[in-house]
Amino acid sequence: MTVILDGKKLRDKIFEDLKVKVANMSVKPSLAVILAGDDPSSKIYVNNKKKCAEKLGINSIIINYPSTVTENELLEKIQELNNDKNINAILVQLPLPVHIDKFKIIDAITPEKDVDGLTTYNSGKLFSGEKPYVYPCTPKGILLLLDEYGIEIEGKHAVVIGRSNLVGKPVAQMLLNKNATVTQCHSKTKNLSDITKTADILISAVGKKVVGENMLKSNCVVIDVGIFRDENGNLSGDVDFETVSKTASYITPVPGGVGPMTIASLMLNTVKLTEACR
Ligand code: NAP
Repeated sequence: MTVILDGKKLRDKIFEDLKVKVANMSVKPSLAVILAGDDPSSKIYVNNKKKCAEKLGINSIIINYPSTVTENELLEKIQELNNDKNINAILVQLPLPVHIDKFKIIDAITPEKDVDGLTTYNSGKLFSGEKPYVYPCTPKGILLLLDEYGIEIEGKHAVVIGRSNLVGKPVAQMLLNKNATVTQCHSKTKNLSDITKTADILISAVGKKVVGENMLKSNCVVIDVGIFRDENGNLSGDVDFETVSKTASYITPVPGGVGPMTIASLMLNTVKLTEACR
């Protein structure tokens, strides 16, 4: 029987524990989120993050900039936040306006406050098998979900579709660090389904419907990171849930799978960075 990997349920459990933990902390954690531009999805994500933080007793500020913001304005703000003792965690919401060099902006965040673990320092630690200050939120959420359901990683063949710095690359590396055998696929991969058919664990982080019927062997663990509006305006994941859930051993729904775990990880990371800087 297929088991649904319930991200909302685990998020709620994590939030219950965090609420108690934060209430007992002498320093109230503070998260600063920089939002540049007017991407409607980004606005929703950022407001959700703020609401969740406040529910847990975490301070949260959103710093808004118009899409005409300059790189220097963003760099100056990040420097100010880096030096602000009342701020423990900094997140730059992606995507940034096209004229901004996102690598330069992310790397301006001091690694000790880099709540998404995306700076060169923290990703370098991850890729060299050392401990970063924190792990990137979405990959961390996926690993917490696998762990919660007792899904073994060691020795398994994990196929990751997508190679972004935000999700694909770090999740592949985290699985490798846990002794999975990892194959990374992307838009130039040939014969994708020949590869996905050999997966024990499949992680899809694309943003298009790329995983359908007959692409997986029976009992595969399926993690669907993708979330987008389909041609009818409905929320969709990368995986054809209807057909794939018939043969998968475990599968995440969209919504309700990886999304809530990303927020849970963001809150866990904020608290972790606050504890580390005491
Ligand atoms: P991204 O930066 O656009 O990366 C997409 C990746 O998919 C790229 O590596 C691309 O390959 C690959 N790709 C595109 N078309 C493909 C195809 N036909 N077959 C195989 N691979 C293909 O996206 P992202 O930031 O990683 O996000 C991916 C999805 O996850 C999006 O839907 C996003 O909204 C969602 N997401 C969800 C959460 C959550 O919390 N639920 C968090 C983050 C992201 P190339 O490198 O060759 O271009």
